Amino acid sequence: MSSQWIFLGDKFVKKEDAVVSVYDHGLLYGDGVFEGIRVYSGNIFKLDEHLNRLYDSAQSIMLTIPYEKEEMQQIIVDTVRKNSLESAYIRVVVSRGTGNLGLDPRSCSNPQVIIIAEQLALFPKELYEQGLRVASVASRRNRPDVLSPQVKSLNYLNNILVKMEANLSGVDEALMLNDQGYVTEGSADNIFIVKNKVIYTPPVYLGALEGITRNTIIELANEVGYGLKETPFTRHDVYVADEVFLTGTAVEVIAVIDVDGRKIADGKPGEITNHLLKEFRRVVTTDGVPCYPESNSAVV
Ligand code: PMP
Repeated sequence: MSSQWIFLGDKFVKKEDAVVSVYDHGLLYGDGVFEGIRVYSGNIFKLDEHLNRLYDSAQSIMLTIPYEKEEMQQIIVDTVRKNSLESAYIRVVVSRGTGNLGLDPRSCSNPQVIIIAEQLALFPKELYEQGLRVASVASRRNRPDVLSPQVKSLNYLNNILVKMEANLSGVDEALMLNDQGYVTEGSADNIFIVKNKVIYTPPVYLGALEGITRNTIIELANEVGYGLKETPFTRHDVYVADEVFLTGTAVEVIAVIDVDGRKIADGKPGEITNHLLKEFRRVVTTDGVPCYPESNSAVV
């Protein structure tokens, strides 16, 4: 098997050599930002949107990414090409870099860029056919005025803790509420509900990441003519919904069939959820930044 190449700092290194300092503030303090991006059939899906979110997250925490957006775009494309990938998951990390043990980022002079692209491990097909079980958890989504959920930072403890809570209670995913009890999102996905053919999703200001998949679904729903409202809702609205689904880069669009032990409608993925998943899978294969412009194939 050929080796996997990782972009680290300013060059490609073999996976075994891709190591960072124990003084990296990304490791010591979760000080940094990241993105998860997908490649479908050699095309990077919504790369501009992911880069905009990455640079916005960095701007928000006053982290200077040592590459212009266009350079970063090229490095990401090169990483996919160098690893001859067709369907892949890309992880882009920018940490504050190496400093001393104090948390003051002024000791870190060189932000560290890491880009990993690897073959995608697909979610099992059965999960899409059966749907997920979800539970609301005791830990609340961190408040936007404490650490904005719109900053995709390396500090994912809030999300990790709720995922653990959900797993401990025997379900697949967590439903996070904000401190007012309004529904925000899952541990790594946005939430939508459907009631009487109208689709609802919480406004991001309640405490959710502005998901790229979320935005794509909003666009698709408008295109195919479903009514869609960004409006606050509570657990009760989720329990009595006709359909519930989650969206995210990894999970795409996936039905939720049980929330806190309440079966959603007939306990099967709903019609609108299935329709939007189909539409989503259609656009991901036709849209995106090509990594292999000449042959459109990783095999050269
Ligand atoms: N919320 C959180 C907390 C996430 O980590 C993710 C995954 N990036 C999402 C929502 C979904 O966002 P996207 O569709 O951009 O992957």
